[in-house]
Amino acid sequence: MPADESTLAIVLRARDYGESDRIVTLLTHDFGKLAGMAKGAKASRQRFERKLEPFSHVILHFRRRPHGELVFITRAEAADLPQFAIDDDLGKIALGSYMLELADALTKEEAEASDAYGVLATALRTLARGHPDASLRQAFELRMLAWAGFGLEFARCRTCATAVGIDGAAAYFVVGRGGVVCARCRPAVPEGGIRLDAASAAALARLGAVAIDDAPGAVAAGADGVLAITRFLSSVLDRRLRSAEFLDSILSESTKG
Ligand SMILES: [Zn+2]
Repeated sequence: MPADESTLAIVLRARDYGESDRIVTLLTHDFGKLAGMAKGAKASRQRFERKLEPFSHVILHFRRRPHGELVFITRAEAADLPQFAIDDDLGKIALGSYMLELADALTKEEAEASDAYGVLATALRTLARGHPDASLRQAFELRMLAWAGFGLEFARCRTCATAVGIDGAAAYFVVGRGGVVCARCRPAVPEGGIRLDAASAAALARLGAVAIDDAPGAVAAGADGVLAITRFLSSVLDRRLRSAEFLDSILSESTKG
């Protein structure tokens, strides 16, 4: 019988299975994304307590099964791990759910993802301590995309490498190029681009470079920047993010207030 393995993990998704089991998908520090079966999870408070809900931060103990796709989860404990307390605020729930869904969409099962785990853990910790704001959302999106190999460029023209936004000139985000082009180069780009105010392009360039815990309160891109990132995400993901619409409505409400 294979030995138990263990790793730090964040629960991305969980659902009941049958009378007493749970199927859980986690982003782990050491083994990438894992899907597992927790036998008797609903009955055994000792082995699982309430630790297998989305957002749970746990030390996961599991055993691989020779032919099964799901690992066998033997235990999950919170120990002294920081928990992400976000359930007291609708905006935090909306942004946190979006973070889990985006992390899920950008990772593959059992492919190395320790840095993605780190980004998600930092973002959820930052969210739990602060406010759900657009700058935290955008910094998280840009960092996760960079981790997945899609480093977006908002500071320099993809074609001529000139700094954009000089003298307040707009830049144009081209989805297929993963970055902006300047007004001079734009006519030569057949795909067309999403117009970004100089301020939005500058905000995204900064948010792509700051530490995630420094993002809250920083200047965020406006609706043009949100559109650029949304379009890019839908060009690389094989699914629509269900939590995005809810998050958009919540964040726009809080901006109005
Ligand atoms: Zn250019």
